[in-house]
Amino acid sequence: MSDKIALSTWPTPLEPMPRLAAAIGLSEGDLWIKRDDLVGLGGGGNKVRKLEWIVGAALAERADTLVTTGAAQSNHARLTAAAAARLGLDVVLVFPGTPDGAENGSGNLVLDGLFGARIFWAGEGAPSDLAGAAEDVCRQLDRDGARPHLIPFGGSSPLGARGYVEGGEELRAQLPEVDHVVVALGSGGTMAGLIGALGVERVLGVHCGAVAEPATTVADLAGALTGRALAPDALRIRTDQVGAGYGVLHEPVLEAMRTAAAIEGIVLDPIYSGRAMAGLIAAVRDGDIRRGERTVFLHTGGLPGLFGHAETVHRSVAALRLHSPG
Ligand SMILES: *Cc1c(COP(=O)(O)O)cnc(C)c1O
Repeated sequence: MSDKIALSTWPTPLEPMPRLAAAIGLSEGDLWIKRDDLVGLGGGGNKVRKLEWIVGAALAERADTLVTTGAAQSNHARLTAAAAARLGLDVVLVFPGTPDGAENGSGNLVLDGLFGARIFWAGEGAPSDLAGAAEDVCRQLDRDGARPHLIPFGGSSPLGARGYVEGGEELRAQLPEVDHVVVALGSGGTMAGLIGALGVERVLGVHCGAVAEPATTVADLAGALTGRALAPDALRIRTDQVGAGYGVLHEPVLEAMRTAAAIEGIVLDPIYSGRAMAGLIAAVRDGDIRRGERTVFLHTGGLPGLFGHAETVHRSVAALRLHSPG
């Protein structure tokens, strides 16, 4: 019983990016951007396609409260809160750390509050067992008479990944002979779904440091989705954009953000879509993506996350301005 529900209007636009293509070493007609940042719910982003399936299943079970986990600046948590608001459900977000963390009052957390989410701060030791903390929260809600539905980290279950099988099919209808789709790899469901629609050869994932074993994570999800086992080393995954870690800003990523913003007016975030763009630029540089190959950058959203790290990003732009002529 899993009927998906509609949380946005589809398809999202596919736009050419000739100036960026030329700037990074492709031909002008080689590069497109798929605008899943423009999804019409809660500030947009890739999690909405997954939530259409997952929340559909939760409603079929007559759940009245959505529960999920993530980092404090989780885009997935923010969009889960927005989906709950749209459907008249309650929502509890389970985050590591404490409410006095430096990130509170910025970025996604501001929107979580606007959407009416309740936040359970699981404490400093929590990242190791956030899922356990979320299960405890569900048991407590249950005892209080609510009907909680626990959504996995990033919405990356085989069910959620179906949203990106559809996303990949939507893209193929817009651009039949796509050679490469470049996407940020976080919890893995987006890449897994795209593989389900387009095959392993055409999907290039850029690891963002959110999971320990990106290839196994994606291969397991894609295998569960398609019913065909997939060898992790068959996947195309770049791991060169993680830098010092998931939440830590990485200079090539800031550079990619500046390039996309200054050349195309496209805003990327420092955790996911900026890493994906840095990975695309690196893939062109080292010949994995070549001139004449039809390449799509999947913009997965994440703009509010930029404002969770606004000072560092601002500092990097200010530094650029001081040293550039004119
Ligand atoms: C979650 C997220 C991703 C990664 O998607 P996964 O399906 O978790 O791999 C990419 N970009 C943004 C902005 C995200 O929020």
